[in-house]
Amino acid sequence: MFERIDYYAGDPILGLMDKFAADTNPDKVNLGVGVYYDEDGKLPVLECVKTAEQRIADPISPRPYLPMAGLPGHRKGCQELLFGKDAQILQDGLVATIATIGGSGALKVGAEFIHEWFPQSKCYVSDPTWGNHIAIFEGSDVEVGKYPYYDKATSSVKFDEMIAFFETLNKNDVVLLHPCCHNPTGMDLTREQWDTALTVIKARELIPFMDIAYQGFGKDMDSDAYAIRKAVEMGLPVFVSNSFSKNLSLYGERVGGLSVVCPSTDEAERVFGQLNATVRRIYSSPPSHGGRVVDIVMNDEALHEQWVGEVYAMRDRIKAMRLKLKSVLEEKVPGRDFDYLTEQNGMFSFTGLTPEQVEKLQSKYGIYMVSNSRMCVAGLNSSNIDYVANAMVDVLKD
Ligand code: PMP
Repeated sequence: MFERIDYYAGDPILGLMDKFAADTNPDKVNLGVGVYYDEDGKLPVLECVKTAEQRIADPISPRPYLPMAGLPGHRKGCQELLFGKDAQILQDGLVATIATIGGSGALKVGAEFIHEWFPQSKCYVSDPTWGNHIAIFEGSDVEVGKYPYYDKATSSVKFDEMIAFFETLNKNDVVLLHPCCHNPTGMDLTREQWDTALTVIKARELIPFMDIAYQGFGKDMDSDAYAIRKAVEMGLPVFVSNSFSKNLSLYGERVGGLSVVCPSTDEAERVFGQLNATVRRIYSSPPSHGGRVVDIVMNDEALHEQWVGEVYAMRDRIKAMRLKLKSVLEEKVPGRDFDYLTEQNGMFSFTGLTPEQVEKLQSKYGIYMVSNSRMCVAGLNSSNIDYVANAMVDVLKD
C-alpha cells in the first residue's frame, strides 16, 4: 500500500545535526545548524525567560485553548518590536498580526494566504536563501523563483543585478526579503540600498514579504528593523514573519508572528479574519506555553530591558568570534581576503569553502558546516576557535 511513497531524503541542515550527534570525535564542533551556543558551548536559557517561566509555574494554571491568533500580549509584543512602540500604524489599527508556530509557521500561514488571495503571484527568494523558504512556499502551491543576491567571487551583494531583476517582475509578485542577518550569507543591504530596493518594489507594485528571524543580532533591535519601518513609511503593504526562536533562545517552544500592514483598518480587519481562518484549518490555535513567555517578557518593562541586554550580549560574543577567527586566518593564510567575516551580520558566515573543503573539515576534524559553506559563527567559543581556525587553514592550503 505505501510502497509507492517516496523516501524522504531528509533536511540538509537538520540531517547534519544527526550526523554530528553520531560523530565520536571528542573535538567535534557543530557549526551547522542556526542555533546560538554560549561561551561554554551550551544552549542558553535567558534570565528574562527564567523569570517568566517562574511566573508561569507559580501558581500552575489551567491551559485553555488560545484564540486562533494567539495571546493578545504576544501579538502586541511582535508589533511593537517590529514597527516601534509608538508606531502610528499600530495606533491606527492598520496591522493584522497573529502569533504563530515559530517563524516557519508565520511563513506557512503567509504562503497559504498568498496562494488563496493572490493566486497569480509568484514568490521570489534571494539566491541563495534559507532552503525552507522555497519548500514552504512551494508546499503551498506558490511558484517560487530566485532573484540575484550574493556574489561568491566578491563576497558581496549583487545589488545592481538584483534591482534590474526586480524591474522585470509583475504587479503583486512577492519578494521575500531578509531585513537583517541574511541567512545563509550574513551579507545585508545598506540603508541606501534598502531605500532604492523599496522604491523599485513600490513602483512595480510588488509585495514585500520581510522574514526577520535574527532581530537584535545585527546592529540593534531598531536598526535591524530598518527595512520594515522604511517600507511602512513609504506606504507599502508589507508582510512580516518574525521568529523568537533565536533572540529568546526558545527554539523548541515554536514562537513567532505574522503581521500584515494594510492600507486601511477595514482591510486590516479582513486580512486578520482570513489569517485566523487559515490557522483554523491548519492547526486551529497555537500552543500556549511559549506564547505566555513572549507575552511576559515583551510586556514587562524591566524584563524587556533585561532581554534586550541579553540579546546584545549574544550579538557581541558572535562579533568577537568573527574578529578572532579573522585575525588567525589572516595571519596563517596570507594573501587571502577574510574581511567578509566582519562585514557579515548575525549568526552566519558564508565562508566560500568548496564542498570538498567542507567535507574534509567534517571527516578529518569533526567540524560541521552546511555544504554551501555556511558556518554558524555562534557555535564558536574560546575553547574551539583555534581548533576550527587551524583546521580551516589546513583545508584552505590544499
Ligand atoms: N527564517 C529564517 C531566515 C530562518 O533562518 C529561520 C530559522 N532558521 C526561520 C525563518 C524559522 O524560524 P523558526 O525556527 O522560528 O521556525
